[in-house]
Amino acid sequence: MFAQRLAQVAPSATLKAAAEAERLRRAGHKVIDFTAGEPDFPTPEHVKAAGKAAIDANFTRYTAAAGIPELREAICARYKGQYGVDITAAEVLLTAGGKQALFNTALALFDDGDEVITHAPYWPTIPEQVKLVGAKPVIVQTRADEGFALHPDTLIAAITPKTKAIIVNSPCNPTGGLVDEAALTPIVEAAATRGIWVIVDLCYEQLIYEKVPHNLVKVLFDRHRDRTVIAGSASKSYAMTGWRCGWTIAPKELTSAFNTIQGQTTSNITSITQKAALAAVSGSQDAVTVMLTEYRKRRDNIHAWLTAHPGIKCVLPGGAFYLFPDISALLSADGMKTSADFASALLEQEHVAVTAGEGFDAPGYLRISYAASMEDLREGANRILRFAEALQPAKAGVGR
Ligand code: PMP
Repeated sequence: MFAQRLAQVAPSATLKAAAEAERLRRAGHKVIDFTAGEPDFPTPEHVKAAGKAAIDANFTRYTAAAGIPELREAICARYKGQYGVDITAAEVLLTAGGKQALFNTALALFDDGDEVITHAPYWPTIPEQVKLVGAKPVIVQTRADEGFALHPDTLIAAITPKTKAIIVNSPCNPTGGLVDEAALTPIVEAAATRGIWVIVDLCYEQLIYEKVPHNLVKVLFDRHRDRTVIAGSASKSYAMTGWRCGWTIAPKELTSAFNTIQGQTTSNITSITQKAALAAVSGSQDAVTVMLTEYRKRRDNIHAWLTAHPGIKCVLPGGAFYLFPDISALLSADGMKTSADFASALLEQEHVAVTAGEGFDAPGYLRISYAASMEDLREGANRILRFAEALQPAKAGVGR
């Protein structure tokens, strides 16, 4: 009954976990929810004010499909300041979040049968969008015991004559892992000699805790600018998920193709959002620093609390706001066999909602979002520890 292309695509696992948590909440339980893929902070005051002012000034009509020039220029200025690269407004197009930025890219570049390489554990939207347009995701694994570092050799070995593009996400959802300049450089060089597109999802670019060399934009622009797409977003950096503002930075010709796609589908992103995003991108960045400082504290605490248990192994993530612990040592042969079983039992018994690793191509893991208050993090960690303690040692498979 429905189009063939839908047969390939899976619905979002994260949303399913959140819906279960909501069911328990409605039943009157105090649920601690660690499934959130979004900041728990409010949008900064000056950004909200700019949105309100836009409404009062009746800035409520269509804009150009690509977005207002002031915001596109402000994005160029921000990238110049942050990465030292020169970008023109003709290379920037505003999208309804990083999601649409990536989807425009998939629609404009991938044909039936093309292969697109990305790394796992991954944010599921990346491979699902590839499938939605008829192309084939090719997955390169990264390992927890290596901090989910991306090995350029492994990725390059996955290139075939059918490879159309490589998608890199750093900081990574769900692992919090970072791809540093040294890892990206050989990948970009290999892509450049073969004419393969490199797409970098920088949605969490402002949420980096460790001082690793992360000027990925410069690495790409110096070597491969004519086949590079940057997908950016105001969602996480400025606590603006509901406003829906992202962008692509891509060569002019491709940006013009995006413009055609967007012009015939959704047109411009909300006019009011554009004014708010302009304030976010070009105004004071103090709120970003305040949020980053708070996330870092939360990361350090929740990591220390959970890894106190011998059955919970977890690298300290370098960015984003997720912890991605390996709980495979707590899984038993009978009863709780998978991390999905673990997550359901944890939700039923302790009312803590987490996302099971299966959805990110990482069975045995959990994704814990620390975009939650310190109080909830402490309480949630206590409940997780209590849950883990209650597992029989023989079942838990860890020596006591
Ligand atoms: N990329 C990654 C890795 C994400 O986790 C998300 C949001 N969960 C996005 C892009 C897109 O977010 P948005 O559409 O709100 O910009």
